[in-house]
Amino acid sequence: MTRSAISLKPEPTERAKRIFREARSIENIEGKIGKTLSKDENNVRRFILCQTPILGRIPSIGEIKREFDQSQKGKVDAILNKLDQLDAIHLDNDKATILAAYPFSGSETSHQVSLKGKGYKRVYAMCAIDALGIGFMFDCDVTIDSRCYHCEERIEIEVKDNKIVFLDPSSIVVWCDMEYSSCAATSICGNINFFSSEKHFGEWQEGRPRRKGSLLPIQEAFYLGKLFFKNRLEN
Ligand SMILES: [Zn+2]
Repeated sequence: MTRSAISLKPEPTERAKRIFREARSIENIEGKIGKTLSKDENNVRRFILCQTPILGRIPSIGEIKREFDQSQKGKVDAILNKLDQLDAIHLDNDKATILAAYPFSGSETSHQVSLKGKGYKRVYAMCAIDALGIGFMFDCDVTIDSRCYHCEERIEIEVKDNKIVFLDPSSIVVWCDMEYSSCAATSICGNINFFSSEKHFGEWQEGRPRRKGSLLPIQEAFYLGKLFFKNRLEN
């Protein structure tokens, strides 16, 4: 494989800004970034997010309880429920496992993200936009290994200094589904995917019901990932 030198910055288009504004009006982004949470709630939220790339998986509820054993004994369940209601995380029906802590998935997905340096391990992202946002969130270089949602061809993206420096195939686009309904994991995440090209998206879409969303060039999707995740750990 020839590695041609590219350098693609996130592209702040009006469309991406509109998608983000629309998401803000439906989702509780302020809560998800910790702004409207209590200190205790935010500490748990941050712990889950910061531990995931260290462990290479979302921490278990037992591990979270052990971490907060002294400071918040008996409060962790209530805090996890609140984070679940905000859709900052997604618990299973028994409230025994964290299935998602956006941008991370508790189970394998087709979007593998390797964070560079700092001893981080490979993680699974919930969707294509989440995968593109992780580097901004942790301020580190990443490689994304995914699949075309139509033909399953391998998709590889390398991000260095917040720029895409490698893209294979070079025609990658992202379908950004916008039919959000109270929980991203069960409504949109599975529908925000990479496609190897606009043509492959067209072939995939053929004969399927149209959903509300936008087909984004990679730089625009990259910008959207930045908007959603850059400030996730700032509070
Ligand atoms: Zn394809």
